[in-house]
Amino acid sequence: MAQSYDLVVIGAGPGGYVAAIRAAQQGKSVACIDKRGALGGTCLNVGCIPSKALLDSSELYEIASHRLGRHGISATGVSLDLPTMLKRKDGVVKSLTDGIAFLFKKNKVTAIHGSGKVLGSGKVEVTANDGTKSTLDAGAILLATGSEVAALPSLPFDGKQIVSSTEALSFDSVPKDLIVVGGGYIGLELGSVWARLGSKVKVVEFLPRILPLTDTEIAAMVQKSLTKQGMEFNLNTKVTGAKKVGNRVQVQAESDGKQVTFEGDRVLVAVGRRPNVAGLGLDEAGIKYDTKTLKIPVNDRFETNVKGVYALGDLTAGPMLAHKASEEGVAFADMLAGQYGHVNHATIPSVIYIWPEVSSVGLTEEQVKESGTEYRVGKFPFSASGRAKCMDETEGLVKILTNAKTDRVLGVHIFGARASDMIAECVTIMEFKGSAEDIARIVHSHPTLSESIGEAARVAWLGKAIHA
Ligand code: NAD
Repeated sequence: MAQSYDLVVIGAGPGGYVAAIRAAQQGKSVACIDKRGALGGTCLNVGCIPSKALLDSSELYEIASHRLGRHGISATGVSLDLPTMLKRKDGVVKSLTDGIAFLFKKNKVTAIHGSGKVLGSGKVEVTANDGTKSTLDAGAILLATGSEVAALPSLPFDGKQIVSSTEALSFDSVPKDLIVVGGGYIGLELGSVWARLGSKVKVVEFLPRILPLTDTEIAAMVQKSLTKQGMEFNLNTKVTGAKKVGNRVQVQAESDGKQVTFEGDRVLVAVGRRPNVAGLGLDEAGIKYDTKTLKIPVNDRFETNVKGVYALGDLTAGPMLAHKASEEGVAFADMLAGQYGHVNHATIPSVIYIWPEVSSVGLTEEQVKESGTEYRVGKFPFSASGRAKCMDETEGLVKILTNAKTDRVLGVHIFGARASDMIAECVTIMEFKGSAEDIARIVHSHPTLSESIGEAARVAWLGKAIHA
């Protein structure tokens, strides 16, 4: 007889595992299927976590090598032990993926290793990693298989020299020249890691700008900053092919109608991600999806067109971000239990973990302009922040966009040290439909970088900051 569960989740990434735990906490019997040996999906295994572990390590190396002198500290003989750095990263990943296995046990979620395929409402086929097939009965089925790296037909991966982000987390030596195709999140984050460790990084970007979804002014500042850090940017450049010459790769591209060639020992292709729908049985089960984007349409209850089958995270509309998937997982599980659940896509923050960091929430200035709303901009530079001076981290600014008539905050963009943590305040304000005046009247501890948010808000609200 088939095993029966209230909920069968396919995919144990940040969307799936969080939904599974939350549903179990709501009293449901839950199974979560994933073909990867370790739980946690792309984010924990080959995405957010290992990349941040390397970003933190490489940042320390960079500081120790070049930035201690100004503080009156001399460090000689600083050297890189790459195997130890990679081992630490693997250890961080293991402790977190083991942590999810522990949470599954604690919450009585059954982890099933294998591939899940929907056979229709209420039925899931599991193919175990040894090929054995079995069927599960499911009160509800949640599709949470996330996404996979998009490939470039003109530059196919070979797993060694032409690689995706997965392999770029584990290069066994520091590339002399690393060509990064795509000036988006992954390209800039992993490009930063290897540039700090000594690679000459050349970014090749198809568009006339990097970070296409980021506020244009901030993206231009990022490009200038990373150029100062030694990265090279080739914009408006379309990759057309590649040739291997010994242990080097020549990437051919077209720029302004001219043929150009970039040579490096490794090439990282980071041109986006695509929903992971292969093998899910969508066609057979009649589950609708967009054949071009592969996204699965869902309503605000995460329901697909097939009764009892739900989807969330990277498989559905919205930013492909771990925290978006996790919050959807919580909302889905709460609704399945008959409670309220909702994720406001307008206030999902995003962070780019380069240095200085970039974070944002809400609309960019271009989006506000396009909407036709009369708006104000309040900016405050970290060069005027006492704490930033103490830290020797004065690069960047806080930029707040507000509705000129109502003062309501429409978007916040931070480029600066610890921007990743500071954006939380702005998310809260926006979630509560707050104004620049609200932020300006909140007490910010002194001396902290967060005072700059208060000052930028004062500029948006009154046209003047106290300290600039
Ligand atoms: P991305 O969408 O951020 O950037 C891809 C870049 O590649 C774009 O700038 C695009 O114009 C460019 N591009 C596309 N085709 C090209 C071509 N043929 N030649 C040159 N450039 C080309 O994608 P990504 O960096 O691969 O990241 C994938 C996803 O992972 C993103 O959606 C992001 O949300 C997520 N991610 C998030 C974080 C984070 O939150 N810090 C970190 C890494 C990845």
